[in-house]
Amino acid sequence: MEGHSPLSVSARKLESNLSGDPARISVADPGLSRLRLAAAAVAEAGRIGWWSAFYLVRFLLGRGRGRDARLRTAALLRGYLLRMGPLYIKAGQVLGTQSGLLSKQETDEFRSFFSELPPMSDAALRKVLRNGLGAPVEQMFSSFEWTPVAVGSVAQVHRAVLPEGDPVAVKVVKAGVRARLVASSWLLEKLLRIGHLMSRRLRKYEVPAHFAELRPLLTGQCDMRQEELRQAEVAQNFSNHPYLRVPRTHDRLCGPDILIMEYVDAIRGQDVELVDFPRPALAARLQDVFYCMVYFHGFFHVDPHPGNLMFGADGEVVLLDFGLVGRLSEDDKWNLSSFYYACVLGQWELAVERFTRAFVPQPRRLAPTQSRYAAELADVLRAHFERQTDRWSTMAFFDDATRLVRAHGARVSTRFSLLALSLLTGEGVVSQVDPDIDIWRNARRFTDRFSPYLSEELKERFEREIGRQVPNSMSARREAANYLVAPTHLDRFVLPSAFPLVVREASGAKFLDLDGNEYIDLSCGYGPHVLGYAHPVPVQAIQDAAARGAVNAIGNPSELQLARHIAEAFGTGSKVILSNSGTEAVQMALRIARAYTGRQRVGKFEGHYHGFSDQGTVSSWFRYSGSPDSPEPIANSAGTQRSVVADTLVLQYGEANSLARIEAQAASLACVVLEPMPAALADFDETFLRELKNVCARNGILVIYDEVVTGFRVHYGGAQHLAGVEPDITCLGKVIGGGLPCGAVVGRAEVIDIARTTQDPFLDVDSRAFVGGTMSGNSITAAAGVAVLEHLRDHPEVYTGLRQKTAWLTKEMKAHAVEHGIPCNVKGSHSVFSITFDYASPRLVRDRLVGSNIKANLALAYYLRKHGVYMPELHTMLLSDAHSETELEKVSKAFGSSIGEMVENGFFTS
Ligand code: PLP
Repeated sequence: MEGHSPLSVSARKLESNLSGDPARISVADPGLSRLRLAAAAVAEAGRIGWWSAFYLVRFLLGRGRGRDARLRTAALLRGYLLRMGPLYIKAGQVLGTQSGLLSKQETDEFRSFFSELPPMSDAALRKVLRNGLGAPVEQMFSSFEWTPVAVGSVAQVHRAVLPEGDPVAVKVVKAGVRARLVASSWLLEKLLRIGHLMSRRLRKYEVPAHFAELRPLLTGQCDMRQEELRQAEVAQNFSNHPYLRVPRTHDRLCGPDILIMEYVDAIRGQDVELVDFPRPALAARLQDVFYCMVYFHGFFHVDPHPGNLMFGADGEVVLLDFGLVGRLSEDDKWNLSSFYYACVLGQWELAVERFTRAFVPQPRRLAPTQSRYAAELADVLRAHFERQTDRWSTMAFFDDATRLVRAHGARVSTRFSLLALSLLTGEGVVSQVDPDIDIWRNARRFTDRFSPYLSEELKERFEREIGRQVPNSMSARREAANYLVAPTHLDRFVLPSAFPLVVREASGAKFLDLDGNEYIDLSCGYGPHVLGYAHPVPVQAIQDAAARGAVNAIGNPSELQLARHIAEAFGTGSKVILSNSGTEAVQMALRIARAYTGRQRVGKFEGHYHGFSDQGTVSSWFRYSGSPDSPEPIANSAGTQRSVVADTLVLQYGEANSLARIEAQAASLACVVLEPMPAALADFDETFLRELKNVCARNGILVIYDEVVTGFRVHYGGAQHLAGVEPDITCLGKVIGGGLPCGAVVGRAEVIDIARTTQDPFLDVDSRAFVGGTMSGNSITAAAGVAVLEHLRDHPEVYTGLRQKTAWLTKEMKAHAVEHGIPCNVKGSHSVFSITFDYASPRLVRDRLVGSNIKANLALAYYLRKHGVYMPELHTMLLSDAHSETELEKVSKAFGSSIGEMVENGFFTS
């Protein structure tokens, strides 16, 4: 294990590219008194001057050609960097990985930098420990090994045992290192400034500004409290991971100079030859871990050299040392993924555009040579992604791209450079573990796994196995595409279905497609068919109502009856407005809330979808932005009105911080809208719902529950009846239309009456919310809704049955997943359930989506079809009263067989 590794020489090659945007890396800059800093800087200047002269002379004297001379130079450089101190040793560590910068023998020269650096003296160690622990070592530990198990540039590590008997690793910052780091970085900054002033050529690289940005990062490596927080965050990101382990820290025992963590007995990264695990698989695992940190977590190890890795039994990878960690925002991750996506598809023009958006902070500088820049970058991309794929390396590509951007007068961003440094080191290690690894193929496998794009091989297989099963659906779709934008509901946006079905007829829990294939359906039409398809109750009601003549925009008895049933379900004094869809219901509720409160803004929760309106889709599920604690609202569709987005406060469900943010912005908030039982969770947080209600009530903000899916599905009424928490307004849809288009708003009379006339036309326009809808409450829909609600009201056993069926099926599915040993989260209750393939259970929706194996989810939908089960792709699944035990047993069996086949076909290998 290595301590903390400052950036330097070859890292400086990267630093010289740095742009002015913040690296967003949280580290403390340990303060030193001015006097001590000045003294340390003078000493540092003397040391640098003396050793630079000394090594320069030796280099000049021993200069020569050929392999031996190069090896001699490498040895000299090694000695020089060692003398120069912690800030420079990082360069040696980068050189010590198989990064392609040096030959194998030259690389070996730098390998001792990973753990064999000189430790501090015993006396100094005792002093640091005594000060840091606040008690003698003998009191804090039942045993302590004074010989370090590893020594890095910043810290050294000792093995010890806590009084309770737990073996621990004690990481101690080396005496004097903090002062030296601060002083040498201070000095370096000054030297860079001088260089900047004196050299015109250097000036355009804006090195001092970039170094100033990195400086706190470098010096902050010495703060063990900060490092403990970073380590805990990475550990959390990988909790339950099948083969990546991050040692648990003992946070209460940590201080500025001391970090105490569990002791992991494993093989050091540099001794990888001792690991009894196939090298290619081990290398693929490492690459997977590094990429996972970058692309999913956006929180990555900048410094994953062998000294910061260990290998446990069965190819377990242990990641250590979080002194230098980079962070990518949601937008960075989005940009990075969208760039790779274009590369995977070979769309070079788009890739150039996305690369520039992602990594060039001042793209206007490219304007004078824009078309040449675009053409040359497209060539670079083509060369790396198309032609050199057998010897692909991110670093080589980054290097060429950086050079090109620079040649056109612009820079790449700091984050890009840190990413490059991380991948330079990481891919170097990966190549060291398996020199034959095909980095691109693995990277491609990685991007495949987490994007819906299907690899050519997979596409072919699905065409063969699924496409051929549904030729009539496929040709109907092709034909319809000439005149219908969305041939089916699924074939429309972001993640279109590769094989949308056209259904000929549906009955009970099954439907028949145009090709005569029969499926057990797990979509329930995305919600309405809680009794199953073609249930006699709504069918009869619809037939009778149609025979009586479709009445709309004039009162009809069914409309009144439907409103009464809904109002009764939501408590005495409730009032109802009917609409044609869930989207409309939410729009009505928002207008009512604005009219009622006289305020403009809306609070909504990240990942909650409220229909396709501008407001309903803000930060809903395709795209998120801003920090997890304080998300920025972002449109999820082109054409969204910007002011609607800007007027949204985006919150996180279940997080106390959301309540504080509501309170802080209360004066402008008309309402907070949410799914009380978010579809992805299939559960609700009762305490949170209660606290949310209290905060909003205290501040005159209306609470709107969107129960479009859960209304009359999870309970007669909705999820609020399960939670026992009442909102001001509830939005309904789906079930209440008995299978026909419908929606409703229901709430306290005092609030809903804001949509009722005052009988004064002038006052109406000034103070009342207008809601319309020609077909709202039409007689056929209302009759179907009445019939279904009455059936549900009179048969409460339907709800008991749905609960039991969901519990049974999800238990079965989990058991199948365990049996096959795959990462799989099955969540469900009250007829709503979802499946994701992911080892982790992230707290926030944004992380759930990003980290999930989307490709496996899509594939599951297709594998299930082969077994006669229709699963809506990437959507929550729903059960109906019509699903019989036999059918659910078939679904369970189909799921077991499908994931078995998916395992065989390599969907879960890494
Ligand atoms: N709200 C939620 C929670 C939904 O899931 C949906 C649709 O799926 C809507 C609102 C919009 O309903 P509709 O599609 O009927 O407009």
